[in-house]
Amino acid sequence: MSLLDVSSFAAGQWIAPGAGARSIASAITGAPLAQAGNDALDVQGMLDYARTVGGPSLRKLTFHDRARMLKALAGHLNQHKQALYDLSFNTGATQSDHMIDIDGGIGTMFVFASKGRREMPDAHVYLDGDIEQLSRNGTFLGQHICTPLQGVAVHINAFNFPVWGMLEKLAPTLLAGVPAIVKPATATCYVTELAVRLMLESGILPEGALQLVSGGLGDMLDHLTMQDVVSFTGSAQTALKLRANPVILENSIRFVAEQDSLNASILGPDAGPGTPEFDLFVKEVSREMTTKAGQKCTAIRRIIAPDAQVEAVIEALSARLAKTRIGDPRLETTRMGALVSNSQKRDVLEKAAIIGQEAERVFGDPENFSVDGADAEKGAFVPPMLFHCADPDKAQRVHDTEAFGPVSTIMGYHDLDHAITLANRGEGSLVASVITHDTEVAREVALGAGAYHGRLYFNNRDSMKESTGHGSPLPHMVHGGPGRAGGGEELGGVRGVKHYMQRTAIQGSPDILSAIGEQWVPGGTEIAAKVHPFTRKFGDLELGETLHSAARQITLEDIETFAHFTGDTFYAHMDDEAAARNPFFPGRVAHGYLLISFAAGLFVQPDEGPVLANTGLDNLRFMKPVSAGDSIKVRLTVKKKTPRNEDYGQVRWHVTLTNQDDEIAAEYELLTMNAF
Ligand code: NDP
Repeated sequence: MSLLDVSSFAAGQWIAPGAGARSIASAITGAPLAQAGNDALDVQGMLDYARTVGGPSLRKLTFHDRARMLKALAGHLNQHKQALYDLSFNTGATQSDHMIDIDGGIGTMFVFASKGRREMPDAHVYLDGDIEQLSRNGTFLGQHICTPLQGVAVHINAFNFPVWGMLEKLAPTLLAGVPAIVKPATATCYVTELAVRLMLESGILPEGALQLVSGGLGDMLDHLTMQDVVSFTGSAQTALKLRANPVILENSIRFVAEQDSLNASILGPDAGPGTPEFDLFVKEVSREMTTKAGQKCTAIRRIIAPDAQVEAVIEALSARLAKTRIGDPRLETTRMGALVSNSQKRDVLEKAAIIGQEAERVFGDPENFSVDGADAEKGAFVPPMLFHCADPDKAQRVHDTEAFGPVSTIMGYHDLDHAITLANRGEGSLVASVITHDTEVAREVALGAGAYHGRLYFNNRDSMKESTGHGSPLPHMVHGGPGRAGGGEELGGVRGVKHYMQRTAIQGSPDILSAIGEQWVPGGTEIAAKVHPFTRKFGDLELGETLHSAARQITLEDIETFAHFTGDTFYAHMDDEAAARNPFFPGRVAHGYLLISFAAGLFVQPDEGPVLANTGLDNLRFMKPVSAGDSIKVRLTVKKKTPRNEDYGQVRWHVTLTNQDDEIAAEYELLTMNAF
């Protein structure tokens, strides 16, 4: 079979392997499969191209434009995933592993597309938090904003997820408006290359937004500037070497790292044999050990069970692992494929031997196991291996040695504090799980172990049917961890996008902040509405366009009528003396909801028109009680406009109710859908 040539994509050109190319072997047969890399790659040219071509094009788009682009890209990859599956078998991955890597990666991109549309503005600036009041009269305010970095994101990925690993970094980067140079691990870069080809050929991305390095990265990191970001997944050793690059240190270049992790799973003290939690625990641990042949950064490396249950867990887990059929991942019967390469196999066996110095192997023998449809000697196959560490307090290697394969160690604990101490001995992990039906156990672990783990996953009989699995990083939730796990953080919805933007504190007048933030800020200039704003189409409404209503006096009869009509006869509205005893009220007061209803009556334009629906109300505050005899009036201002589709968009109105003395009685934001 001829070798696959895995190319790089640099400054708009595909560059085939050349001098310095590395050879890549099939995980299943060990035979040469592909080659990648070319020493002649112009890394400076790639950086320049991203900064001068990709960046400016991406920054012209709004967050919504870029979110739509992600959705289209994910849809395009989805249509071609069979080709990715076909190629990816060579990495040792089974069809269910592909679901995590390929479908999981595409799904992650879809989630970012949707979050970009729903949680970010159709604008160029992301507002981080609320306005800060920095002055007594509100003429000088503060606001935090995020804008895209003007450099390039260099993504250095691990071999285990050639598609997900790329897309989970690429989606937030592109949504932020930053071009990316992706450098997959050489061992599986042929799968990443195909995914990149598909994305580039779709024509969805602006030129320069995405480039690819297959093979070595050369001295690219030496040419980075303070506007660039490096996001790395891989070993702690490489992370340390790369983050210590003087250029990265001197320029304070962001370096996001996700590296080795000795993730733990705790069986709760309440979850003995015979409970649904015990069975669930065994199932989760066995799945985490064997999925991707244990080559998952989130896999369970340490199994922490009550002393009294250790034997029962070993027995149940061994019975389950014994059913794992190992073999050619293309076979439907195969449950666990191969490790990525024979060098990885050697590494796993070496690490297992280190763990074996402190723990006894109680299941799995690398010298004696069967492989379906492939040669166990030639391919990178290993069996699941379970170790038992009898003295986890004295032991050290079981807490710091990551055998990146289907290897896990069980250890006993005598009480919950001990379990927490053991979980934290990993010195920082991506995830720890607790299988318990006892909410107090969950609370204690969250308080005792939260600081040591990037994610805590609790599961029990109530959630197990819908739970997503200990090992699945979700685009909505942060992925990363302190200490050994790299100290970085990825994903987590919009949080993940912010790693590719600069947060800047902006201070100035309301008009300045309105202009920068692309939304009207209270205190800013009002545009007097010439006609009722409800008669104006979405596209015609201007930020700051304001309607001042007439005043309406509130009577005792209004309060009585509202109380009896709605049934809200709370004493503060009905009993003058009781209300006066309450520190908040001078006596009987109008219902807040009555005021809101009257406000609508004051500002509404009743005719059929561009306002299609009232879809909600945010941030309602009642600030000053209104008594019978007081009068209220309304100011209604267009604060923000967000297109939803070609037919309509959301208008956020700032609404203020004031009394006869111009004191603010209530304030809120009204949401309407308006036709274009
Ligand atoms: P490495 O740390 O060796 O490689 C990770 C990435 O860094 C690869 O893309 C690699 O490229 C790249 N890289 C290595 N050296 C350099 C360099 N000098 N300059 C630029 N890029 C570089 O990890 P592996 O993927 O080989 O895995 C080794 C071990 O790492 C595993 O056995 C496991 O223990 C751990 N690991 C942990 C993961 C986690 O998330 N917890 C994930 C994956 C691995 P190239 O492949 O071309 O060398």
